[in-house]
Amino acid sequence: MIKSPRGTRDLLPPDTALWNFVETTARDVFRAYNFHEIRTPIFESTELFARGVGEETDIVVKEMFTWEDRGRAESDKGQSLTLRPENTAGVVRAYIEHKMWDRGLSKLFYIGPQFRRERPQKGRYRQFYQIGAEVIGPAASGSTSPARDAEILELLATLLDRVGITNWNLELNSVGCPADRARFNEALKQALAPVVDQMCDDCKRRAVTNPLRVFDCKVAADQPIIETLPTVNQFLDNECRDHYEAVKAILKAVRIPFVESPRLVRGLDYYTRTAFEFTHGSLGAQNAILGGGRYDGLSEALGGPAAPGIGFAIGEDRLVLSLSASAESVTRKPDAYIAPLGSGMNREAAIVARELRRHDLIIDLGDESFRLKKSFEAADKIGAKFMIIVGENEVAAAAFAVKHLASGTQETVAREGLAERLLRG
Ligand code: AMP
Repeated sequence: MIKSPRGTRDLLPPDTALWNFVETTARDVFRAYNFHEIRTPIFESTELFARGVGEETDIVVKEMFTWEDRGRAESDKGQSLTLRPENTAGVVRAYIEHKMWDRGLSKLFYIGPQFRRERPQKGRYRQFYQIGAEVIGPAASGSTSPARDAEILELLATLLDRVGITNWNLELNSVGCPADRARFNEALKQALAPVVDQMCDDCKRRAVTNPLRVFDCKVAADQPIIETLPTVNQFLDNECRDHYEAVKAILKAVRIPFVESPRLVRGLDYYTRTAFEFTHGSLGAQNAILGGGRYDGLSEALGGPAAPGIGFAIGEDRLVLSLSASAESVTRKPDAYIAPLGSGMNREAAIVARELRRHDLIIDLGDESFRLKKSFEAADKIGAKFMIIVGENEVAAAAFAVKHLASGTQETVAREGLAERLLRG
């Protein structure tokens, strides 16, 4: 038997109803904040992620699905391509490619699959889905304002509340600007020098190449050492500190609870100032439902103009895992099952079904070869509310037997009143 590749999974009904519920709710929330959808390719040139995510990140070092294109055209040959491990780099690439700065502030959202070669476990897959958004534009469009950071965080709190996740935690930090980070990196190097020998191999490498990434370390034995290291918030300049304070003040005003988390630096290199994560207790080890932050230098790192921005990515798989709603509760059952009775009745049943579906009714159909008993069983199995019998006599009389399946009561309803009867429930 051929199985789906390691770390991938099939999403089947009824669970897909939960996914649709989450996506529909997200689209509604994005609309309320005036965000618009962007769809970028699922693969991009590898260089985009090396530059946009950062050469030293776990994603780029170990986790990307990369291949060399073997297309026939000269221009395709040897090009290194990668399945997108995240969507921010792609969105910013598109922003630059389409000169979107002409539009002022861009407020964009996306929903789609991402790919990372991680060790699969609960809540961690090689193909997973993200719902994300980016606010990006020239500084004159207000893209650097702390009001944008706070609006994004408030949007996220709204979204989580609307899908029914209530006991989330918002962890907040500021990672400062490049100058702050340079000073912090120096201090970190000094603090690491006497202790790095006792740390894991990844940390030994990071201590030399990019000390900040030491905070990504998940090795338990390293944590007591990491606890003693200086934190980035001790190195913020006045502007970064003011920005951070302004974000927190708005959050307090709109009553969004948060905790400050000075060791939160997030996995990606391009973050500046605000960094955040929302976690949820029910998820176990992989407890981050979403993460995000400000990335004021990313556009320039990708060869574009200055275009400060802030964004987030929700792990949709994890969001669905932490929902308390059941698939049942968000699935609308069929309003009626139509049972064609006798030869030639499939055609008549199709006509009736077509009429009813125009009224936003959910209609399922049997087959004229089914005996009545089999139709009842089928209607029961799909949870239909009514069964409508379409036989020769009913068609001739333009009136149908309509049976309410839960109570067993049956009535005869004229053809033109059928939709109205079903809509009454
Ligand atoms: P990141 O792009 O690493 O900031 O991740 C943002 C969110 O995506 C995380 O908080 C997770 O919820 C989710 N996520 C990241 N990697 C995976 C994965 N391999 N499987 C499932 N969800 C993931």
